[in-house]
Amino acid sequence: MTFEYAPAPESRAIVSIKPKYGHFINGSFVAGKKHFPTINPATEEILSHISLGGLSDVDKAVAAAQKAYTKTWSKLSGKERGKYLYRIARILQERAREFAVLETLDNGKPIRETRDIDIPLVAAHFFYHAGWADKLDYAGLGHSPQPYGVAGQIIPWNFPLLMLAWKVAPALATGNTVVLKPAETTSLTALLFAEVCQQAELPDGVVNIVTGDGSTGAAIVNHPGIHKIAFTGSTDVGKKIARAIASTDKKATLELGGKGANVVFDDAPIDEAVEGIVNGIFFNQGHVCCAGSRLILQESIADEVIEKLKVRMSKIRVGDPLDKNTDLGAINSKEQLVKIKELSAIGDAEGAERWSPQCNLSDKGFWFAPTIFTGVTQAHRIAQEEIFGPVLSILTFRTPQEAMDKANNTPFGLSAGIWSEKGSRIFWASQHLKAGVIWANTFNKFDPASPFGGYKESGWGREGGKHGLAAYLKTGKETGAK
Ligand code: NDP
Repeated sequence: MTFEYAPAPESRAIVSIKPKYGHFINGSFVAGKKHFPTINPATEEILSHISLGGLSDVDKAVAAAQKAYTKTWSKLSGKERGKYLYRIARILQERAREFAVLETLDNGKPIRETRDIDIPLVAAHFFYHAGWADKLDYAGLGHSPQPYGVAGQIIPWNFPLLMLAWKVAPALATGNTVVLKPAETTSLTALLFAEVCQQAELPDGVVNIVTGDGSTGAAIVNHPGIHKIAFTGSTDVGKKIARAIASTDKKATLELGGKGANVVFDDAPIDEAVEGIVNGIFFNQGHVCCAGSRLILQESIADEVIEKLKVRMSKIRVGDPLDKNTDLGAINSKEQLVKIKELSAIGDAEGAERWSPQCNLSDKGFWFAPTIFTGVTQAHRIAQEEIFGPVLSILTFRTPQEAMDKANNTPFGLSAGIWSEKGSRIFWASQHLKAGVIWANTFNKFDPASPFGGYKESGWGREGGKHGLAAYLKTGKETGAK
């Protein structure tokens, strides 16, 4: 007997969305000149209109951030800065449901994830960094480390508020001020965060938010008043940013793409591994830079794992992101859906075998069923390129060394997973995998204390933990010390 789930929609009454938003500069909302719509990707309903920031908006925001840096923020002790961060963290917790519903509406991700993962992690990042603010001199970051000044921060649409927290919390804790640009399709929670800054009475100009598109991001990158860039997004844009700042003294951290390998050895606990595979690729619709988008299975257990995976995938509930029972929500944008469809069609054309469970997908909005491809070889584009959707490419191996060679054979090096019951095998594999983050017998676990970042085309530098703080601080000779 199977049970049907009754609809359990979360009310959206808690959010109040304005018809139009301006930029948040110097502590106030400032009207923009041009606007573009932001939509709910599950229904295509227009939620609001967002300002398209130009050079003059970025200029004003940088000027406000510079003034706040010299007049206020750099004069405060770490202890005082920490108090603001604690205050922001507590307000975020108090308003967690409002943020979760708004993020789900604007992004398309299930309420279960925004409520239980995104927003709690956002608050955790502010709490964690609040604790660091008054301890920087004793943290092994060098004698009296100093902030850079104004940080330009550009974030993507897959974890809108969480990426804001990854960027803003360490910048403020270390004494920098901020000009941040959220992604075009997901600006609403950043603009609600601006209200939190007002509520926390954060000094004017410490956080500035300029909304817009790629040209707005480029204006931030190229602005001479910006001393440090923090970017998360595609490898292509990351390369453009690296080229743009090559002849300047701007510092940068770049968190870019990935094609994470989830390696399952024949001694792995199979049922747990299947859960980890599902979490690795179908969490957040697969819009995750560190997704386990390549499953690398030992040949002797491949049939069993794939069979169990198909049974498990048949139970994934795809649909209304505001329904508390939904596992897989909407694809964030039409453009991203087109990209996922194109790369999947390339998988078909190259001879891999596609399988998806039966799903009733709505005609309105942007949807893609959870999908696996078997018979994938290393030469296939779906084994090399980031699809950034709920699509898993499955390869097999016979020897542990072959598994490592296949896992490392992409231009990326962000994440990997190892499934085995032998500790010695896990240690051996973790020493051979070229990835910034390696999970053992789990996947997609995040903590503010844990540094995150990649090798090769997955980016430069680390965010989170002590390593993440270091990226916002001048140390040694950089401070002017002899
Ligand atoms: P982008 O890298 O284009 O966007 C990330 C952020 O950078 C957005 O805020 C974007 O603005 C901004 N941006 C775009 N162009 C520039 C520029 N020249 N200078 C400075 N900032 C810029 O990602 P997309 O949203 O276009 O997604 C494209 C692909 O990138 C996806 O299909 C996916 O494969 C990958 N991706 C990877 C992510 C990751 O975390 N690794 C996150 C997001 C995407 P705007 O949104 O207005 O374009």
